Amino acid sequence: MIKLYLFDIEGTTTDINFVHKVLFPYSSEAMEKFVLEHQETPAVKSAIDEVKKTVKEEENKDLGLKEIINQLLFWIKEDRKHPALKELQGLIWNNGYINNHFKGHVYPDVQPFFKKILTAGFKVGIYSSGSVKAQKLIFGYSSEGDLTPLISWYFDTKVGGKREKASYEKIASEVNLKPEEIHFFSDITEELKAAQTAGMSVTQVARDNNPKSEFNSISSFHSYMERI
Ligand SMILES: [Mg+2]
Repeated sequence: MIKLYLFDIEGTTTDINFVHKVLFPYSSEAMEKFVLEHQETPAVKSAIDEVKKTVKEEENKDLGLKEIINQLLFWIKEDRKHPALKELQGLIWNNGYINNHFKGHVYPDVQPFFKKILTAGFKVGIYSSGSVKAQKLIFGYSSEGDLTPLISWYFDTKVGGKREKASYEKIASEVNLKPEEIHFFSDITEELKAAQTAGMSVTQVARDNNPKSEFNSISSFHSYMERI
């Protein structure tokens, strides 16, 4: 019997374009002003130092503040996963959400589905490659309102990569369930395969109605409602 329904974010609960068309451009636009205004706060100061250190190590260059900002903008374009960039983006997005500059995109069928799961006595969990902090912001300031009261568990790549079987085993042990008691929804075939190999049941979410694999697929959660 399924006790936990586990959800991927991008392409599953959320438009796959949200990160690349809303969050990334917002962080590019806001970066310079944010760093200049907050350069003396401990988190920003240490991020600046980390960028400086990396560029010194990799290119043997000493960067000033303006050049550090340009480096950060270049890394956003490159989609480099540098911890200092991630930290600064997290702070910038936090500001953006709180000041209502944008909302976390969540498809309208998600909230009723989460509620249905809870009403039936089961739990909702999230597993995404974005940090837990970023996950809580998307659902906390979402286009469908604050959905965080409906979510019991959040996992990011601290438990391991999404295409690795061991990550799903780790999630099962952290929530104290057998993998067989967890159902995982994702748009990505390799993730579904990894979860299935770990013992979970899975459904592919194909928002474009164009399933790409051998897995059972749905185009929205409406068609899964009566199965809970
Ligand atoms: Mg996805």
